[in-house]
Amino acid sequence: MKMQREIIPIEEIKQTLKKTREVSAREAGSIIEKAEGLKGLTPDEAAVLLHCEDKYLIESLCRAAERIKESIYGNRLVLFAPLYLTNTCVNNCLYCGFRRDNLDLERRVLSEEEIRSETETLIRDGHKRVLVVAGESPRECGIDYLERAIKTIYSTKIAHGEIRRINVNVAPLNIGEFRRLKAAGIGTYQLFQETYHLPTYQRVHPSGPKRDYHNRLTALDRAMEAGIDDVGMGVLFGLYDYRFEVLALLYHAQYLERKFGVGPHTVSVPRIEPAAYAPISANPPHAVTDADFMKLIAVLRLAIPYTGIILSTRENAGLRDRLFHIGVSQISASSRTSPGGYTQGEDTSVSNGQFAVGDRRTTTEVIRDISKDGFSPSFCTACYRVGRTGQEFMDHAKPGHIQKFCLPNSILSFKEYLLDYGGEELRKIGESLIEKQTAAIQDTHLRKATLKKLQEIEMGKRDLYF
Ligand code: SAM
Ligand code: SF4
Repeated sequence: MKMQREIIPIEEIKQTLKKTREVSAREAGSIIEKAEGLKGLTPDEAAVLLHCEDKYLIESLCRAAERIKESIYGNRLVLFAPLYLTNTCVNNCLYCGFRRDNLDLERRVLSEEEIRSETETLIRDGHKRVLVVAGESPRECGIDYLERAIKTIYSTKIAHGEIRRINVNVAPLNIGEFRRLKAAGIGTYQLFQETYHLPTYQRVHPSGPKRDYHNRLTALDRAMEAGIDDVGMGVLFGLYDYRFEVLALLYHAQYLERKFGVGPHTVSVPRIEPAAYAPISANPPHAVTDADFMKLIAVLRLAIPYTGIILSTRENAGLRDRLFHIGVSQISASSRTSPGGYTQGEDTSVSNGQFAVGDRRTTTEVIRDISKDGFSPSFCTACYRVGRTGQEFMDHAKPGHIQKFCLPNSILSFKEYLLDYGGEELRKIGESLIEKQTAAIQDTHLRKATLKKLQEIEMGKRDLYF
């Protein structure tokens, strides 16, 4: 309990939310202005912005979030796809289609062959990054199985195509198991607390190992102690008041920073979507409106400017396109949320997967739309492969240097994508974007080096980066 309070000071959060309710618009405006200095926000400041209802202030908050994201990462958006290994699960989370009580769901644990086939489909789609996801199933999907699955994914190659970074979102492990995950070559380990509000947590997790709030809350500590430099956190929005959740997440991030010298590498912002046999998924107890969702993402960008914000295909295409403009830095595309879903061409409706997917565009369509919108699609996996992780990544990001890598690397990885997977229409859009983006690299030396690498890719070389 003591440690729980050290990570999430519940009373302090409640007091902060109370005392910041009536703050003036002028004060809120000056907090937004201050955030542009990229120093983050205190919990009090974040709370003031979370209370904001003024249309003009929220507009200025969103524009600030867009500028902050651009000044740190440039206008790149990193793409990935989830790869579900199993839908078996010993838990009974009231919001999830994989819950034990969903007796209609055909349970599967992918074999090595099936994992290879899923990976091949993703590679053919142009992906270089996957997020491995699984239900909690210690017997069928323990650490031995995960190690083998990761090996299979990394060893699957088709012509120039391969997966170069595997991130993982699986149930909490112990330190020894996390060490093995690290040794298997994973990038980020992600785990969402779902809700930081203990009574709600206990209500929506009625049974199974996931009922242990403390074990989940301390999982990222164990991952970092085991040497995994990059960890990702998240909240499942809709379970409890979003203002409380955002503040709790910020306290959790601060706690990691205090303890390990570095905060979370990414934050995910899933909202509850409809799922089969999941009693609270159709009507979440604290459903977050689109407007509040937008606001909370913008507040996160201001509060923890150097943390990647991940937006999944849970949200529909129209809303995603708007959210890309307010601080999101990583996005999934063409996702399937069931094991074997890519190979089978699973429909994305509610009955099959873990939850219903909102953005059903193909990867090509997502890339076309974001390119037209001026974003630079990125399949870059450079940082983690050259050891720019954890503290080292932040040391580059904080003085504003990460952009120097992000933009050229997004250009190079996009060029590969266009040559290997792009159709005629996309190539036209892409090449003109690449030309513009390359010309926009201010450092002459870097611009020339990028042009040289682009030529090399044109001649058949692959996997070039800074
Ligand atoms: N089973 C593990 C766990 O729960 O930690 C691994 C990841 S689980 C398959 C991935 C995430 O999906 C969960 O952490 C939860 O936030 C999210 N999720 C579950 N049901 C959802 C729903 N109906 N809508 C949106 N996201 C959902
Ligand atoms: Fe299982 Fe995870 Fe779904 Fe809960 S959220 S039922 S633990 S797969």
